[in-house]
Amino acid sequence: MTEIDNLGIKDKRNVLRIFVRTIVFLILLLVVFVIVFMTNQRHGELFRLDKSGALDLSDYNFEERGRVYLQHGWDFYPNQLLRPSDFSEHDETVYPSYTNFSISPAGWASSNLKPSSNLMDSRYIGDNGVGTYRLRMKVPKGTDLLSMDFPEINYAAEIYVNGTLVKEIGKATDNPADYRHQETYSRVNLQPDELGNIDIVVSCANFTSAIGGITVAPALGTPDQVESISTISKMWICVVITLSLLIIIAGFFVAATFRNKQKYFYFTLIIICSLLYEISDKFIVALPGSWNKLLQVTFYFLLMFITSLYFASIYPREFDFFGRIRNWDIIIIFVAMISFLSAYWIAPHLLYRTSTLVANSLFAAGINFYNFFRVLYKTPRHPKEGTFHLISSVLASIIFSTLLIRSPQVYFISLHSIGVVVLVFGTAMYFTIRYVRNFEKISMFTQELEVAVQEKTGSITKVNAELVNANQMLIKNEEARKKMMSNVSHDLRTPITAIRGYIELIMNSKNKISQENLETYLRSMHTRSVQMEQLIDDLVQLTRLESDNAKLDKQPISLKDMIESLFELYVMETEGSGKQLTLDLPDNDSLTIMGDPNRMLRVIENIIVNALRYTEEDGIVEVSAYRESALLGGESIHFTVRDNGIGIPTAEQLYIFDRFYRAANAAVNKSGSGLGLSIVKSIVDKHNGKIWVESVEKKGTRFHVIIPAANRNNNNKSSAEESNE
Ligand code: ADP
Repeated sequence: MTEIDNLGIKDKRNVLRIFVRTIVFLILLLVVFVIVFMTNQRHGELFRLDKSGALDLSDYNFEERGRVYLQHGWDFYPNQLLRPSDFSEHDETVYPSYTNFSISPAGWASSNLKPSSNLMDSRYIGDNGVGTYRLRMKVPKGTDLLSMDFPEINYAAEIYVNGTLVKEIGKATDNPADYRHQETYSRVNLQPDELGNIDIVVSCANFTSAIGGITVAPALGTPDQVESISTISKMWICVVITLSLLIIIAGFFVAATFRNKQKYFYFTLIIICSLLYEISDKFIVALPGSWNKLLQVTFYFLLMFITSLYFASIYPREFDFFGRIRNWDIIIIFVAMISFLSAYWIAPHLLYRTSTLVANSLFAAGINFYNFFRVLYKTPRHPKEGTFHLISSVLASIIFSTLLIRSPQVYFISLHSIGVVVLVFGTAMYFTIRYVRNFEKISMFTQELEVAVQEKTGSITKVNAELVNANQMLIKNEEARKKMMSNVSHDLRTPITAIRGYIELIMNSKNKISQENLETYLRSMHTRSVQMEQLIDDLVQLTRLESDNAKLDKQPISLKDMIESLFELYVMETEGSGKQLTLDLPDNDSLTIMGDPNRMLRVIENIIVNALRYTEEDGIVEVSAYRESALLGGESIHFTVRDNGIGIPTAEQLYIFDRFYRAANAAVNKSGSGLGLSIVKSIVDKHNGKIWVESVEKKGTRFHVIIPAANRNNNNKSSAEESNE
């Protein structure tokens, strides 16, 4: 893996190493290819393969060498449908032997008298579509019962043992009209005669298929050369060695492309499947019936599927052509594979049809082409690992080509076979697309449902939160109302109790009360009732202000005039009290605001009165106001009142604007309702203003009020426009 990472083709040594490796690899591939090719020729010194894969016996000298021997020591009499009676007992009758004919890998011979331009010529056993196999053996005397398997006899045969017909498969005749074919595996009992001789004659006819005969891949030679089993073993050992060689080389080079376990897993499966494919050949394992073929064809299809998985896993997934088709290709290949395999396992006789065999080859060829295309498409996009991937794909393709080279069926591509492939792929695609569409639909619905549920949950949660808030507000308001009620009743009861006390005093004392006392009582009663009236006024005002529809009578007001007249009033009132009042206002009349005159009067008065009330005799109260630029644009009037009175404890500064709140130090010896500042704050708020306090206990307090300023000349121009003028 680190090797791959270093392959940034940064230094020349790396490039050279890759180059040398590639050359070595290609040479090895060539050697392997030659070995595979040579192995597949299966030729002896006497014959060769023609281009259709048939054994060409043109140069075989029948005069000298006698009859042709097939593997397992069978004699073969092409073009003759012979019965045991045709062979006399001691005889070595020379039957007409043919020169110039070939035997197809399927075991049938074909007269090659005419030049074979059309491959279909090799379809039949000679000109008549018939042929006879004969095998003579000697077994130890007294051998009771022997049996022999005929893995494939296609398509019509009569099997004779020591002259007796023991099996009839289909109808073997040289008249094509009477001919009836049948595909089967067969087991025949061999009963030796007293001397231990067994003479088997198999009379075959085949007018329908290129595939058929007793053997599938005859080895051919002189009687001494045909030590069939050993020849076959040697041949297959050769194939297995070659394959192992391929695996070793492939493992070395292809392993370099592995970036994860998955790929390696697929690759190993490819190798295992290839080997199983080879091993399941009937020459190595002869299972009864169609089992060999079924196993082999299963491994064959698995191989195609795993290879596709391997190629799909080589490159990272991207949003390109292969990314868009996502896993569809793999699913289609999978469904196609399953369709093929189910068809074969359900109806094994299909395996003996040329068209289905060709369909298999087309399937493999199509998938290989697709995989190769995939690599070619991806390689330029991933140049770093390109060489290795290309090599691995060439390798995989070569493995498949060797499978193809050895399957003669590729020469018989018929329309029917293409139809089978198209049909299987079509069905696979149809079902895959339907499945995927349904799946997508369901997942879309699920997503929509999830979104809807989330939305609903969201709105329910919101409504719930609003309800909780509203509920808390109600509770808070209820508490505030109760508190206010108790405050109000307390504050109202106090003067009433006092007044009632004075009245009772007057009533009880009758004539004894002096004029002087009476006057004092009446004055106190008057003060108390004024207090009560004030309280009720305050309450009414506060309630009005707090209700949303409190209407303000807004008009241009000169705060300067208002402050000046109030200032004069209070200077007069405090005369002789020792308290000092100072005023600092701009000369020009720039303190104009849009506001409710009565209410603004209340604000200024309340703050000045508080300052006077909460200072001792040496109190100094400084009133000032000026125009300033507001923080958020525009201009505002800043009104402040500073005193050197008792101050407000820091912890209580937060609460003084609350209704009925009075700081502890104020409540001790100054009377008051605690309503004034809450009324002031409400009014300031209604004028879009701000109010705050700075205070140090026992040092003094400063109240600030800011109200947006109106234009100086009272028209509608904004201050910005004004300053431009
Ligand atoms: P009150 O009728 O008690 O004056 P206010 O609402 O006007 O009611 O004031 C609330 C409280 O704020 C007062 O009780 C007092 O504790 C505090 N306070 C207001 N102005 C001053 C000030 N200038 N100096 C010290 N404390 C003040």
